[in-house]
Amino acid sequence: MSVAKLVLVPAGFVYHWILEFLAERLPEAFPVEIRIDFDSVGIPPSLYDLGSSQLRSEDFLIYLRSKDRWASDEKVLVIVDDDAYAPGMNFVFGQAELGGRFGAVYLARLRPEFYGEKEDRSLFLLRALKEASHELGHLLGLRHCLTPSCVMRFSLSIWDVDRKDWKPCDLCLSKLGVLNVRT
Ligand SMILES: [Zn+2]
Ligand SMILES: [Zn+2]
Repeated sequence: MSVAKLVLVPAGFVYHWILEFLAERLPEAFPVEIRIDFDSVGIPPSLYDLGSSQLRSEDFLIYLRSKDRWASDEKVLVIVDDDAYAPGMNFVFGQAELGGRFGAVYLARLRPEFYGEKEDRSLFLLRALKEASHELGHLLGLRHCLTPSCVMRFSLSIWDVDRKDWKPCDLCLSKLGVLNVRT
C-alpha cells in the first residue's frame, strides 16, 4: 500500500495540542505521511451565514482551493475551531472532496460543553480524531460505509460519532489497497 501525503492546517485560531494529537494518531488509521503547517489560514467574515453565524462549508472549501499554497501531491485537511453547515444540513462536523485534495473538520460541536455537558478534553480529542480520520478517508477516495464501528460510517449526530471507532474497517482498508492511494 502506498502512502499519501497529508498536511494539517489550522484556520483561524486552533490550539497546537489539537493539531499535534491528530498528526500523531492519524497514521495509525490510514497509510499517510503527515506534517503540520502552523501558518494559519484566515477565514473571511463573508464566508459566515449572517443568520446562523455558521461558516458555509462548501464556500470555505472553494476558498481553500483559491488559497492553495501547498505542494500539488499533498492533501490538505484544515482544522477549524468553529461551527459550519452545508446545503440541506443544519450543521456538518466536516466536509472533504471525494478523492480530492481539500477537506475541513469543524470542532465546535465536538466539545461536550456544546451539549451542556462538562468539559472533557480526552473525549473532545477522540471525537476530533474520528472526524479528521473520516474526512481523510474521503480524501483518499472512500465513500460512506455501513459497518457500525467503521470511521467511514456517516454521523448525523454526536451520538453517532461516539458510537463509531476512529479507524476504518477491513473492507474500507481493502478498498484503499485496490485504489492505490498515491496521487
Ligand atoms: Zn462523510
Ligand atoms: Zn468501513
